[in-house]
Formats: sequence, C-alpha cells, structure tokens
Amino acid sequence: MKVCVIGTGYVGLVTGVCLAEIGHDVICVDKDESKVSSLMEGKIPIFEEGLEELVKSNVKKKSLVFDAETSSGVAKSDIVFICVGTPPLPSGKPDLTAIDDVARMIGKSLNGYKIILNKSTVPIGTAKRITKIIRENQEGDQGFDIVSNPEFLKEGEAVKDAFFPERIVIGSGSKKAINMMKELYGPIIRQDFDYASGNSHRKKQVPILITDSTSSELIKYASNAFLATKISFVNEVANICERVGANILDVTYGMGLDERIGSRFMKAGIGWGGSCFPKDVRALSYTAEEYGSPASILNAVIQVNNQQRFKIIQKAVDMLGIIEDKVIGVLGIAFKPNTDDTREAPSVTVINKFLELGAEVRVYDPIVRDYPDSMDRGALFVTDAYKAVEGADLMVLVTEWEEFLTLDFNRIKGIMSEKNIIDGRNFLDKKMLRELGYKYMGIGN
Ligand code: NAD
Repeated sequence: MKVCVIGTGYVGLVTGVCLAEIGHDVICVDKDESKVSSLMEGKIPIFEEGLEELVKSNVKKKSLVFDAETSSGVAKSDIVFICVGTPPLPSGKPDLTAIDDVARMIGKSLNGYKIILNKSTVPIGTAKRITKIIRENQEGDQGFDIVSNPEFLKEGEAVKDAFFPERIVIGSGSKKAINMMKELYGPIIRQDFDYASGNSHRKKQVPILITDSTSSELIKYASNAFLATKISFVNEVANICERVGANILDVTYGMGLDERIGSRFMKAGIGWGGSCFPKDVRALSYTAEEYGSPASILNAVIQVNNQQRFKIIQKAVDMLGIIEDKVIGVLGIAFKPNTDDTREAPSVTVINKFLELGAEVRVYDPIVRDYPDSMDRGALFVTDAYKAVEGADLMVLVTEWEEFLTLDFNRIKGIMSEKNIIDGRNFLDKKMLRELGYKYMGIGN
C-alpha cells in the first residue's frame, strides 16, 4: 500500500521504517527540513537500536523515502499517518497546534479517498476534531475516514515494539477503513514478514482490538497512566521501607509473585520522566477535570513522582551535609537507558538543584552529549564515567545504563575524594560496594 507518515520523530520514523520493511511504499515527511536532509543523507536523528540499519536498507530498496513537502506525500498515498508531537501546555492540556496544522494540510491535499490514521497521543474527541478540520479545508468532496490508532512503543525498544507489538488498537466506525487497516497491518498481525523469521521476539499472532475512536484514545492515556501509577505506588512503598527498615527489593519481589500484581514495572527509583508519562498523566487528569470527574489517584501519582526526584538531594545532604563547593559526579542524563531522550528527565531536576545549592557538577551519559533545554549550563559534560567522579565527594547514578555495571569500582575508589554513592535506581551491587568501603545509599533499601 502507499503510505505517508507525517512527523518523523521517535514514533513516525519507527512506524515508517516498519511499514516499509513489511512491504509497503512509505513516504516520511517532516516540517523540519534539516531533519529531512539529514535522513536523506542516511543520518538518523535519534538513537534507537537497529533503526539505522533498517532505514538504510529500506532507503536502498526505495521502499522508504523522505520529503519535506507534506502535500505531495499526502497526494501520493492511500493511507496517511499523523505522528506529530502533542506536548503539554502549562495547564496540562495537550497542545494540538501540530495536529491542527497537519489536519489542515491533509484537507487541502486530498485528491481521492484516503484513510487518515492518528498515532499521536491525543485527548478524547481528537478524531472528531481532525475530521472537522479536514472537511473545512478540502476543496472537493473526496471521502476519507479517520482512524485512531494509538502507539504503544517504548523508547529504547521502539523497533522491537513496532514489529512485535502486544496489541494493535483500531478506533473507527468505518468497515472500509477497518478492512484496510487489517490489510495494512496483516504481516504484523500474522507475524509472517521476513524480519520476524528467526527473531526471538516473534509472536504467534498479534491481537487486534476494534473499538470506537473515543475508547481507543482513552486506551492509550489509561495505559500510560496505569504504568506511571504502578511506579509511583512502588516508590511510595520504598519511602515507607526506608522509614521502617524494610527492603523494597524483597517487598516488590514478594508482591510480584502474585500473578494479579506481576513483577514487571515494579522498580523503585527516583521516578518516571520522558516525553510520554508526564504529559499523558497530566492530560488524562486534565480531561477528567474537564468532564467533571476529577482524578484523585492521578493527581497523587503526579505529586509522588515530583517529590521522588528530591530523594537524591535529601540523601546527598544526609551524606555530605552542606552541598556548597562539593564535587558531584552524575551518571546518566537520559530519562531511561537505551534512549537519547531527555524530555522531563529526572536528571535535569537533580542536576539543577545541586547547582543551585552550590555544588560543582560533572555529568556523563553514554549517548546524551548535549545539554537538555531545561538543564543549567553550569554542569560540566565529561566523556566518561571516571572523569565524572574524579575528585568527587559523591557519585549519583540517575540512569541505569548497562555500562555502569561494568565500571571498575576499585579504580574509582582511588580517584574519588570521598567514597559516597547514591544509586537512584537500585542498580549497582550494594554488597560489593560496601565491601569495597563505599558508603552506599539506594532507594528504599
Ligand atoms: P517527536 O517530537 O520525536 O516527533 C514529532 C515530529 O513531528 C518532529 O520531527 C516534528 O518536526 C514533526 N512535526 C511537527 N509538526 C509538524 C507538521 N505540521 N508537519 C510535519 N511534521 C511535523 O515526537 P514523538 O516522540 O515521535 O511523539 C509523537 C506522538 O506520539 C506524540 O503525541 C507522543 O505522545 C506519541 N507517542 C510517543 C511515544 C514515544 O515513546 N516517543 C510513544 C507512543 C506515543
């Protein structure tokens, strides 16, 4: 099928390459011309395992092309994906400017029946809003159907999630659109495309859920809000553990043995961040308020998360006393490992607060090499973990990158000024570190 994907970020680029790989002809468009030029030169603007090779091979096969012209991409396609950002406004309400712009552009470019699939995470009613904008902007009376098709990929595992999703949700009332969606996603549903063969993530079959667009939009928000709730809940229990002398690792293990609870997404730490959970939980809370059903649990989930980042600061004060003039090495900037995304990353809050308290802060991340927008530029970026902690009074682990597990803590012992470690993710080997003479603090243990 001929497909146009509008917005070439984490979701759009991964969706586009996945559809090209399973046999469709895909045009990926983006209004950011420099991004499009980079992609045309084979430079991938985001870090996702396996993405670069897939983009290159599909560009070579000509099943994937890039363009900065949305109108021509739409005109040449039968199916149009909307994958633009929906960032939060200060009130928590999602900013739909990009969605509205794209809907106008699609309306103006319609030259025959098309299916418009929305993959961006959007508030309840957005499918209807897009329909209205397209109708107001189309010149003829070409038919079209809007489908809500939320995306559930996880950054850091986006390629795997696109090919081997846990479910495909289709929100639409049109039989024609639903049938075309089943055809479009056929190879994914049946798991019979080349890339799947021999892949350990291959599934027997991917479930497809057909529902109305409002339920589909809500499935996305409610899923993210539930996952965020799980983490905030565990963090609250971790804080109780610290007060009563229990160990959160044992507590969550014991809880997780109950199949109704499960062991996944039960890690205590300094809270969630990224481009999805913070904005999606706030957006659902905003919608709940708007529709007269205030979401008390969601508001508490946000509050617990906002406080959790400051556990690092409290622990640093417990270890070091006054923070002024102390040297602190921070390991990890990305909001989670295996991604370069720093949007709403806990690291930024932690680093900014240390700087505000007068510390000298050195930061290292295996992939992030530039200051996130909201990070105080007083922090010094260094090129490896050892440089971050040389002469430091404290090491703070913020992101659980695999490479931090293989650090030589014997060597580090010799180069730090004081042997203090705060492990914001309970990631390092506490027993080994204490045996080496470090003062180690995790979260909830
Ligand atoms: P992103 O910021 O990485 O990418 C969005 C892209 O859209 C950018 O490249 C931007 O230049 C482009 N764009 C904006 N306006 C445009 C326009 N008018 N025409 C053409 N291109 C335009 O965003 P993302 O992380 O890919 O997220 C996109 C949507 O998917 C959001 O609603 C997000 O909540 C949702 N989502 C994201 C993830 C994730 O893990 N990142 C997962 C599931 C769902």
